[in-house]
Amino acid sequence: MGTLQFVAPPTILVNNPATGEPVAEVPSSDAGEVDKAVARAQSAFADGRWRGMTAVERGRTLARLSRLIMDRRDELAATESRNGGKPIQAARGEIEAVARVFEYYGGAVDKYKGDTIPASKAGTLLTFHEPLGVCALIVPWNFPLLITAWKAAPALAMGNSIVIKPASLTPLSALALSDLALEAGIPEDVVQVVTGSGSVAGDALVTHPMVKKVSFTGSTAVGARVMQQAAPEIKRVSLELGGKSASIVFADANLDTCVESSVWAVYDNAGQDCCARSRVLVEQSVYDEFVARFVERARTVRLGDTAEEETEMGPLVSADQRETVEKYLQIGEEEGATVATGGNRWGSGPLAGGCYLEPAVLVDVEPSMRIMTEEIFGPVVAIMPFKDEEEAIDLANDSIYGLSGSLWTRDIGRALRVARAVETGMLSVNSSSSVHIEAPFGGVKQSGVGREQGMVALHHYSELKSVFVADD
Ligand code: NAP
Ligand code: MG
Repeated sequence: MGTLQFVAPPTILVNNPATGEPVAEVPSSDAGEVDKAVARAQSAFADGRWRGMTAVERGRTLARLSRLIMDRRDELAATESRNGGKPIQAARGEIEAVARVFEYYGGAVDKYKGDTIPASKAGTLLTFHEPLGVCALIVPWNFPLLITAWKAAPALAMGNSIVIKPASLTPLSALALSDLALEAGIPEDVVQVVTGSGSVAGDALVTHPMVKKVSFTGSTAVGARVMQQAAPEIKRVSLELGGKSASIVFADANLDTCVESSVWAVYDNAGQDCCARSRVLVEQSVYDEFVARFVERARTVRLGDTAEEETEMGPLVSADQRETVEKYLQIGEEEGATVATGGNRWGSGPLAGGCYLEPAVLVDVEPSMRIMTEEIFGPVVAIMPFKDEEEAIDLANDSIYGLSGSLWTRDIGRALRVARAVETGMLSVNSSSSVHIEAPFGGVKQSGVGREQGMVALHHYSELKSVFVADD
């Protein structure tokens, strides 16, 4: 007689990278589960329970979601901190930014309008913005809830249904968001979350015939694959990919502000930031002073327990990610670069199992080195001198990427000239900030296609229909 066997569904164990300890277990969805989630989202789209609401009603619902996120700020921040290894202060800031994203699109959607166009035939020409249907939102682990919000808020604002696929390492905040979405009044099934691996759940989503658009943030290699897989059915695709952004520091810059800002531009989120200014190009005459001050400041960055308020830098997201970064430091040395500070593992006591790495500075670098051309995605900066404006621009543009960047000068003419010459999606002058929910965010070259944030994101989650009404 055979015994009846119960096979537990496969799960993914989620760890706290600061301690290495498990914090949760989530389902590892297969293609069948993805299909069910997409079908639910499609049926919610088809019956109009969400897109049939007026734009004002949808906007108010998103505004309610924004307030709920603020009400649960501390809880969500604790989740994001435990799951992603973020210092609690930074995590709190991210949750506030998430609330702001829903506030922005809640207020934007009833101002997003079509045109009436002067026609050359007798009649009226109009444009409508219409939702696409089911949008798949594939999210990386570095800013889990914030990047989810950049996609979910404009997609929902336009009346789409969404299926979120969070990164395997950091699925917890997206699951919390879907509960809050229901509580805010977004109808059942409009927001789906599928946890599972990229190669199974992610792949099943991208190739699902009912998915009309894929919005992907992650590595350039996976982004290229997503684009290929979306091609046969001409799915809409937006991609936010890697970066190797440069900061150009001219000798007339305010070095106090510039050094402090440049340190955070690469060590924030332990360097796991697609906009990280991981290449700093400094005008020859101030190079030595800049490096000395940067190294001194890098040594005082406070690593620590992510639950403590004073902690400035947490661990890398996983042991694998730390090994990748360490490998790059080794490659850099083999190529002839010098590690001026940092690069050692850190942590003792309860943090001994954490994936910490001291902030590193590489000097004696050449533009052709792998550490100058490849995205490291960790707390590592390469600093190199330049002789004049032309060389600075050439060095900045010598990259397959073009996501973000900074330039530091008090000469307004030069600022505008260089800003026009740098091949990038975003640039800040005398600042390291790349993210403004009010402005388009995204990259040129292999950093991606399409833009998130700002009013333009509503365009990326809708179709434009032209309608001609002949005079009767
Ligand atoms: P990744 O490996 O490309 O993964 C991103 C997401 O795609 C994850 O949810 C992943 O799932 C999923 N995925 C993996 N393989 C897939 C496949 N074959 N089909 C569909 N989905 C798949 O990137 P990551 O390692 O998480 O993040 C680091 C990268 O993201 C960096 O290169 C960084 O520059 C980039 N990034 C860019 C931006 C931006 O706005 N430009 C922002 C943040 C990060 P699993 O987690 O299960 O693998
Ligand atoms: Mg990955």
